[in-house]
Amino acid sequence: NQDWKQASKFSNALLKTTLDNKHRKRLACEIESARKSLPVYQVKRQLLNLVRENQVCVIVGETGSGKTTQLTQYLEEEGYATFGIIGCTQPRRVAAVSVAQRVAEEFRGGVRLGEQVGYAIRFEDVTGPNTLIKYMTDGILLRESLTYPDLERYSVIVMDEAHERSLNTDVLFGLLRNVIAKRRDLRVIITSATLNADRFANFFGDAPVFNIPGRTFPVDTFFSKTPMEDYVDAAVWQTVQLHIQAPLPGDILIFMTGQEDIETTCEALADKVSKLQNPHPIIILPIYSQLATDLQAKIFEPAPDGVRKVVVATNIAETSLTIDGIRYVVDAGYCKLKTYNPQLGMDALLLCPASQSSVDQRAGRAGRTAPGKCYRLFTSTAYVRELLETNVPEIQRTNLSHVVLLLKTLGVDDILEFPFLDPPPRENVLKSMLSLWLLGALDANGKLTSLGREMSSFPLDPGLSSLLFTGMQNGCLVECLTIVAMLSVPNVFVRPQGREEESDAAREKFFVPESDHLTLLHVYQRWIAGGSRAEWCAKHYISSKSMRKAREVREQLLDMVRAKKMVESSCDDWDSIRKAIGFAFFYQAARRKGVGEYVNIRSGVVCGMHPTSAMYGSGLGADYVVYHELIMTRKEFMSCITAVEVQWLAEAGPMLYVLKHVADEGVEIAQRVQQRRAEIEDEIRRSSSNRKEDDGG
Ligand code: ADP
Ligand code: MG
Repeated sequence: NQDWKQASKFSNALLKTTLDNKHRKRLACEIESARKSLPVYQVKRQLLNLVRENQVCVIVGETGSGKTTQLTQYLEEEGYATFGIIGCTQPRRVAAVSVAQRVAEEFRGGVRLGEQVGYAIRFEDVTGPNTLIKYMTDGILLRESLTYPDLERYSVIVMDEAHERSLNTDVLFGLLRNVIAKRRDLRVIITSATLNADRFANFFGDAPVFNIPGRTFPVDTFFSKTPMEDYVDAAVWQTVQLHIQAPLPGDILIFMTGQEDIETTCEALADKVSKLQNPHPIIILPIYSQLATDLQAKIFEPAPDGVRKVVVATNIAETSLTIDGIRYVVDAGYCKLKTYNPQLGMDALLLCPASQSSVDQRAGRAGRTAPGKCYRLFTSTAYVRELLETNVPEIQRTNLSHVVLLLKTLGVDDILEFPFLDPPPRENVLKSMLSLWLLGALDANGKLTSLGREMSSFPLDPGLSSLLFTGMQNGCLVECLTIVAMLSVPNVFVRPQGREEESDAAREKFFVPESDHLTLLHVYQRWIAGGSRAEWCAKHYISSKSMRKAREVREQLLDMVRAKKMVESSCDDWDSIRKAIGFAFFYQAARRKGVGEYVNIRSGVVCGMHPTSAMYGSGLGADYVVYHELIMTRKEFMSCITAVEVQWLAEAGPMLYVLKHVADEGVEIAQRVQQRRAEIEDEIRRSSSNRKEDDGG
């Protein structure tokens, strides 16, 4: 009997493997034929010839023609990965991950992600010694150029989604122009989904432009007759109408602006559809950058027969990701844009009308496989009068501190002379240099200081890097590391719909009334003390995923800190930590004006505390606070706030505060701050000379 059981277990396992293999083979066949049906396949040979004969070329093709997933694989087949690896940059993290997953499935019948095909995004490197094709964010490649200015690891670099004109891609263009002059063996391919590719070609000395012949179907576009009050309501209503009337198959893609309105839309839609009489079954799937990776993959799964798939997306689905089967597009006509506020010297995420070229791209998503329809939730007059023709490149509208610091580190002294495709406004460059000077990263002549050099070696915004150094100075580097890690991951507090009160109460239990930064530190410490378990997270309405990510980020930062031989100081005196925070963020401060009302010290604008802050309603009413971010809605809100002493602000930033707020102490404080800068610089010099000795020994 025992033997029989054993045997049947064995044969079952065998059967399962055979079936699995069969299934896998069938899947591989399907994938192969799907690959061959892509427009880019028809021109494979021509493309490879073009790349062989030209160091730089520009490839234009409709979204979904196979540029991102196929080109890298063609290049690998052609032998380009034998003398370096094939790199492909993406402006968006989600796209880098999702595309790498797909290509790993396709490559040689399917390989494990991180082997021949991998990806790298900030704080997450899924590549290895066997990697031949590497997808990455443009920010990653930019950072790599700090260590390898000639990008020696790569034989080909595909600059994908160039039409997006992301800040990092734009900077890379300028750098690459120098690199290709030095490295004749390097190939650069620029891909774009829109036709205005000549600018890229001209920038690289008349590089050839290749158009992948498209294959699109007509899309009927409908505008709304009157302006919409609420675009979420309007989108839900429109989608329900479509779901009732439009035949199957035919999936729907809704363009929203961000996580919040995507979630609201998904919930409202599910609710409305459930109230219909005998509706077709429906699957509603969100996609936005902070969504968990496994959930992101779901949008690509075809809906079963008789079921309609509705995907609610940010502009990630505009050109970066292609979802097959979409026949209907519902477009709210907005997007969220990071926009620089020169008055404040920082970025804010603003809700803006999308550009004409964006909404036209969105409409095009409906016509990939068959004729489609696009419903715009704005009027045709608005289209003509209110929408810009094209997007303003990021470089012209965002904070450049990060980029200026990076370029300075790369030895580009005169930023205004750097070969930008579209130069940023002079004022923004100067403002960014001013911020870096305030942080001590540049000296009064605009030269990089040793502190600045050290700051740029962390993959962090200058403000957060600065916190590591002020942490070191105040004997709490380890705690500041934790805070920086917690600020670098998606919000750790979860607030599920329908359970707002319980989750708010759970969050309050972690509050450190004088500081959100310390609150985050507190959460992390409690999580570690509790054995970092998922059950603990569920019980306290904390995102287990974000916590694990924070731990990972913290480990990586800790490695960097150790490599630099920074003093790994730690303390449990929360006032010292607050002091470090005040020193790092002195230029983002506000003074109390009334009950719960503050005035931004630099801009004079009135702002409030965000209701999720530990300081909101804590009755503490600190006279001075620093904040991590400003959120603009009806008015300005500070989020992630810490109460500070005005002396700290004055000491850290006498150039901002002294005269106005603490005039008497001014001179003395100015001297102290000079001294403190000198101390930090000294310490850095010492630790870097230690490092050199170590290297030698
Ligand atoms: P392009 O870069 O020209 O816009 P892509 O290479 O991204 O085109 O897409 C080519 C095809 O690959 C599309 O039909 C798309 O649906 C498919 N595809 C891309 N990513 C995935 C994925 N993660 N899962 C399934 N199919 C995918
Ligand atoms: Mg693409």
